[in-house]
Amino acid sequence: MTKHKRKDSPKPGTRGTPGTNIHKATTRRPTWDEYFLKITREVAQRSTCLRRQVGALLVLDKRILATGYNGAPKGLAHCLDIGCLREKLGIPPGERQELCRGLHAEMNALLQAASYGIQIGGATLYTTNHPCITCAKMLINCGVRRIVALDDYPDGLSKDILKEAGVRVEIVKPHKS
Ligand SMILES: [Zn+2]
Ligand SMILES: [Zn+2]
Repeated sequence: MTKHKRKDSPKPGTRGTPGTNIHKATTRRPTWDEYFLKITREVAQRSTCLRRQVGALLVLDKRILATGYNGAPKGLAHCLDIGCLREKLGIPPGERQELCRGLHAEMNALLQAASYGIQIGGATLYTTNHPCITCAKMLINCGVRRIVALDDYPDGLSKDILKEAGVRVEIVKPHKS
């Protein structure tokens, strides 16, 4: 294959990124965290949960390995279609998650990686919300080393266990306590 020189490539020996001049004044190039969080928000839009639309991304070496959003198991009716028991019983956030038929976004991302035989040891989890205790335990055992969450979630036990496991957690919008 012949190499085509890009028209906007900088001349050898000069510094600069191709094409930056066009957008320089109006846009700033997003950081990797911003980039993946933005995609995480898009993923969350596929959620079928009545209460909270959550998206999750497993990333290693700046590459997306798996994605997930919260919803019922494959082929089954979603809470969106038939209602959710947690909603009916008025269960507060962070409690009795087993009463919902949906899987969490993080679980679905982990299961996607498992289904396709993708190694995720050392990965970063990007998520719209801080993981619950159940997901936190799974993430620890899958070797996830860093979590970047857009928003917090009221689960103190989850935070304690992640801290004990040495997982780095960054929350963009932490709860004020
Ligand atoms: Zn539900
Ligand atoms: Zn969870």
